[in-house]
Amino acid sequence: MIGATELIAAAAALYVVESALLVRRGDVLLEARRRGWKARRCDALPGGDDWAVALPGLLPPLRPAAVCRPLPLALAPQGAITAGGRLVPWERLAGAHADGGRVSADGLVLARLSSDRAAGELVAALRRVAAAAPGAAREAAIGAELDAHLDASAARAALARWREAGPFLGVVTNALFGYVFLAVPVVVARRGLVATWPVLLAGLLALLAAAGVEWWFADRALRGGSAGSRLGRLIPHVLAPLGMIRARQAVARDLFGSLHPLAAACAVLPPAARAGEAARWLREARHPAVRAAASSVEVHAHAADPDAAELDAAAAGAWYHAALSARLEAMVARETGASPDELLVPPAPDSDESCAYCPRCLAQYTAAGSVCSDCGLELVAIRGSAGGAPAGCADGARTAHADGARTGRRRGERTAHSNGARTRTR
Ligand SMILES: [Zn+2]
Repeated sequence: MIGATELIAAAAALYVVESALLVRRGDVLLEARRRGWKARRCDALPGGDDWAVALPGLLPPLRPAAVCRPLPLALAPQGAITAGGRLVPWERLAGAHADGGRVSADGLVLARLSSDRAAGELVAALRRVAAAAPGAAREAAIGAELDAHLDASAARAALARWREAGPFLGVVTNALFGYVFLAVPVVVARRGLVATWPVLLAGLLALLAAAGVEWWFADRALRGGSAGSRLGRLIPHVLAPLGMIRARQAVARDLFGSLHPLAAACAVLPPAARAGEAARWLREARHPAVRAAASSVEVHAHAADPDAAELDAAAAGAWYHAALSARLEAMVARETGASPDELLVPPAPDSDESCAYCPRCLAQYTAAGSVCSDCGLELVAIRGSAGGAPAGCADGARTAHADGARTGRRRGERTAHSNGARTRTR
């Protein structure tokens, strides 16, 4: 016969599994903690090449954790560019569709997202831009999508809706946690399982019913949609009672929909913490990583002239990053009151050997004139305290290359190799 201890241990293990969030690399996790929200990139979490597992706060009071991501495709007047660097023209994107978290068009997988809702919203955005006439109308349509993606006031409205919709669900799910992991073990230890199980089961079912009703109203307020689709989302919670403890967290997961992580961060972080997040996203928009070249097989299969196709993709990418940077800078000025130049100050050398840094990830290196091993970007010389290169760095170190605009980088150019060792990990 299974003892009470084994039952509790099994329940705890199941609860941990129910609490795990499956995310994609590149996602950003916004977690509510005791001392306020925290933004965390999912790149360093354990998992596979493309996915990762996050375990946000397991103990009461149970707090929300929302998953956000920047647009997984670069949108330009010529088409959308995938993470692999493929430029897909708008004619092919008009038929974009979502299958689970996967977004495809014309037999080509465009992006894989960690939620069905995010994939559905990306498809809707692609169709809106594809429906616009080429030229100025399409540029305006892309601009409208970027404005909506970076709308911090929409993030604040979503957070307010969640707070209004969830308080009773929060009370019931925290009570459910206390019942399963505190009340039940105490009762079983004192009176035994055989004598108490009917009462304990009745208590559990009553709490589950209350949580189910509260979840229904919270989900309707936050996600809308038909009653049938809501019932489909409710059934897994009911079938996995320990998952019901996380019901409010499950609703919070897509709280910010397709909003940019910085828009969501501006809604939850205090002004002082926004500046650090803002600086990071500004650096990444100004200095896009040098992507690995698409395989020649792929390029040959889809373009008569692979070199021209790659130049088109580079030009489209430059257009997108310029458009994104301009909007990010305006949004950051509104939300933090700081100009990009105030936020993007060069780093201080982290050791005597530091001679150069990557303008995107800020990793520091022992030699200038090379490229960042992670981002493929040319390094920028670090200024010492006297304004020149720090002692120990060779003269003639390459100077600032700050605008980062790459309009015609050709495949094969990324052969320049880092000849300087990194001085620390970021
Ligand atoms: Zn870098």
